[in-house]
Amino acid sequence: MSECMKPRLSVDLSGQVALVTGAARGLGRTIAEALARCGARLACIDINTELLGDAIAAIRAMGTEAEPWACDVTDGDRVSQVVDEVVKRFGQLDILVNNAGITRDGLLIRMKDDQWDAVLNINLKGTFLFTRAAARPIMKSPRGRIINIASVSGLMGNPGQANYSASKAGVIGLTRTASRELASRGVTVNAVAPGFIATDMTAKLGEETLELIRKEIPLGRMGQPQDVADAVLFLASPAAEFITGHVLTVDGGLTV
Ligand code: NAP
Repeated sequence: MSECMKPRLSVDLSGQVALVTGAARGLGRTIAEALARCGARLACIDINTELLGDAIAAIRAMGTEAEPWACDVTDGDRVSQVVDEVVKRFGQLDILVNNAGITRDGLLIRMKDDQWDAVLNINLKGTFLFTRAAARPIMKSPRGRIINIASVSGLMGNPGQANYSASKAGVIGLTRTASRELASRGVTVNAVAPGFIATDMTAKLGEETLELIRKEIPLGRMGQPQDVADAVLFLASPAAEFITGHVLTVDGGLTV
């Protein structure tokens, strides 16, 4: 099992199909498990096939249908193929969570082109490719939802993250445009902007840096993956049907 707690929201997603990218570990895995606990059938996408197998086993152990797809979110042909296969396997697609993302931190004046390209390709282009491929099947859903995982870095910037903050600001712009384009089809498109959440991504910052970060967070702690998963559940739920183009920060007050 992943580190996640039980969902604190009671949301009924039975009969729905959700696709989560970057579902093998971290936030993506917790989000996929939370959606599955609420009754959704899961299409789990990741480049890390070994850990993806563990995530699928954990979801199936809950008695929920889940299928893995190995996919690099930057590969447009593969992304289209995966979405086609998901629709063929489950017969529908209702919820897309664009979560796969990376960091390649470094100060702006020393940042290499490959650091910039990798982060923009995975975080921003990957989100675009899955949104484009999934939009048609999601438009057929009576309550289509697209939820993009951005970051507070895309709202406030962060030294050492020119590439990452640009990619996440781009995700927010993409979210707003997609929300306007898809609204007439009843599809809502929102972003969740986490602050510092305890996953492998932040563990590599080191304990000293994490302690400094904790002091900057008004609520006095790092977020847990479940804090983000619960925000996703809310946006996926019928209770959020009139919310679109919104950026929901989950940051303990960091951006206040
Ligand atoms: P994580 O623990 O590093 O997990 C990311 C997952 O995405 C991994 O399984 C990774 O595979 C996969 N992935 C990476 N590149 C991929 C690609 N090209 N195609 C498909 N899958 C790929 O990250 P996380 O902390 O859970 O973060 C998830 C999302 O939340 C990201 O978008 C991140 O930017 C965002 N976020 C996180 C935080 C935080 O504090 N953790 C804060 C704000 C926003 P590998 O194992 O092979 O790397």
